[in-house]
This record gives sequence, C-alpha cells and structure tokens, in this order.
Amino acid sequence: MANHPAQPRLIADTPLAPNVLKLLEPHVEVLDWPTAGSAPENIAAIYTYGHPRVDGALLDRLPGVRVISNFGVGVDHIDVPAAMARGIPVGNTPGVLDGATADLAMALLLAAGRRLTEGDRYARGPKFLHYDPGYMLGREIHGSTLGIMGLGRIGQQVARRARGFNMTILYHNRRRQPEVEADLGVRYVSFAELLAQSDYVVLTVPLTPETQGLIGREQLALMKRTATLINVARGPVVDTAALTAALSERRIYAAALDVTDPEPLPRGHPLLQLDNLTITPHLGSATEETRQRMAEISVENLVAGLTGRPLRHAVQ
Ligand code: NAP
Repeated sequence: MANHPAQPRLIADTPLAPNVLKLLEPHVEVLDWPTAGSAPENIAAIYTYGHPRVDGALLDRLPGVRVISNFGVGVDHIDVPAAMARGIPVGNTPGVLDGATADLAMALLLAAGRRLTEGDRYARGPKFLHYDPGYMLGREIHGSTLGIMGLGRIGQQVARRARGFNMTILYHNRRRQPEVEADLGVRYVSFAELLAQSDYVVLTVPLTPETQGLIGREQLALMKRTATLINVARGPVVDTAALTAALSERRIYAAALDVTDPEPLPRGHPLLQLDNLTITPHLGSATEETRQRMAEISVENLVAGLTGRPLRHAVQ
C-alpha cells in the first residue's frame, strides 16, 4: 500500500485490483478493512469492492466517514438506511454493467438449455468415443417463452437479447412499465403466471427483504417441469435447499446460477453434484471493459463524497 499521510484515509476490503488501486491512490490512503470491533482513527471513507458488511455498528466506530462507495450496483451488503440516518451518501455503479450482466444471463440460459457445460465435460471425458444422435438432447431456446423477474436496467437488456432469439417475453415488477412494454414488446403478467408460463425464468431483481427467498418450494412447484431457472441477481433470492430438491427430483429441467446462497457454496454441496446445474462464480459484470468503467465511476463517487459534492450515482 502507498503511504500518503496527508491524504484522507479510506478502508477497503483489500486486495483491490491494480486498476482500482491506481485510480484510488492519487486521492486517498488505502487501509485494510478493520478487524472485528477495532476502530482505526480518522477514516474519511469506505470503499466496498467485494461484499463486506457495512452496518450501523461499523459506522459508529468510524465517525469521520463522509462517503461509502460501492464497486457494483447491488448494495444489499450495506445498511443504506443506517448510512442515510448519519448523513453519509452511498454511491454505486448502475448502468455501466447492464450489458455485461445481460450477456452473462443469456450465456447461462443458452448453456443450461443446450447442456453446454455437461456436454463440455462429456466431450473431454473417457466416455465420448462415438457420436450418438440420441444423447444429450436439450431444450429449444428460439421461439420459447422467457419470464423476466425484475425488468429494470439489466432485465431490459436481457429482453433486448432474447428478442433476437424470437422468444415470447413476459415480465413482472411491482410497477408495470407501459413504455418499456411498447418499446420491447414484452408482456406484463403476475408472478404466478410468469412462473407457470415461462420456459426460462431469469431473476434480475435486487436483494431486499421483499425478494429474499422469492423462489422457494412453492414457486418452483408452479414452474413447468421443462423450465429452467437462471439467477444473475443475488443468491438469497432463491432458497438453496428448495432448488436442490427440485433439481435432483427433476421437478424443473435445470438451473443456471451466477450467484448462490451461501456464496461460494461449500465444496461438496449437493447442488454441485447435479448435471442439470450450470454455475459460474459471480461473473455477471466480469469483463475487462465493464470492470474498468465500474472502477472509474466508483472512484468518481468517492472523490465527490470526500469533497462534499453530489455523487454521480447515489443510492436513494
Ligand atoms: P434495477 O434497474 O433497479 O432493476 C431492478 C428491477 O427489479 C426493477 O424493475 C424493479 O421494479 C424490480 N423489483 C424490485 N423489487 C421487486 C419485487 N419485490 N418484486 C418484483 N420486482 C421487483 O436494478 P439493476 O441495475 O437491473 O440490477 C438488479 C440487481 O442485479 C442488482 O441489485 C444486483 O443485485 C444484481 N446484479 C448482479 C450482478 C452479477 O454479477 N451477477 C451484476 C450486476 C447486478 P419495481 O421497483 O417496479 O418492482
């Protein structure tokens, strides 16, 4: 870590990627995340790079904090009301990662429907000795029905991509979006209808008390036996035990998860043994270009907060 005693001091869940550190170091002295209960002095800012928990107790131990800047859009690990109650703005990076995250959602959808990762394992393994037209039949993607739970920034980008696959697109939000419906040709349905009618259900809601456990045993039972669940939102939106049971009993066709609860899953977890699970290690926004833009915006938010200016993107 560079040592700049004259600069404002910031805590971050290190190690930070070199491109992030390079942008931060002209402005702040970066300190490691404090150990439980400790209270380093003169901390002016908090930078959350992974998903470290920021709650009222931490903020009380760091009374000089003027801004919290998050690398990413989801802020479920930050107690935003606690920050607001103390007059501390919370910055995030919406918008710049929609395309990359929607690309990954489509990649997972395609991979699960067409058994890509299972096929990859088979093609590399000792059992693949001759082609058989009867093996590894997947499910059609073009012309099928997609249900998007949470048609926000990322969800809308998923819809744009799905149109290229000639999919019928359903969505559910708390608030209906007539302009988006006209623009994207998507149809508003109830959550229950979305589950019952979709061949692919994609989750792009934020994690909130309302969306925690949104997909449990009851919701999985409403899905078609031929349907696939794709989660690029946050792990706790899906009940892991219920999903494990539904997949192992083939009550739904498949699942594709970029996020899990817990994350990572313990090695040897039953979900990881299932062939009808496709899984990635939280790669939604993980492209070099997107991560650079996220770094730039998060540092811009940080500097604005330190100098008392409005953040470019503040969580409301
Ligand atoms: P956004 O623009 O705020 O969209 C969220 C959508 O979810 C909105 O349309 C919202 O509509 C809907 N929604 C919220 N609560 C709901 C509820 N209880 N029931 C039904 N719909 C609800 O957010 P975004 O930028 O697209 O990001 C969404 C989330 O994706 C983030 O919060 C983050 O957790 C996750 N994410 C994951 C990755 C990854 O690496 N896998 C990357 C980026 C983001 P209403 O308000 O009308 O309900």
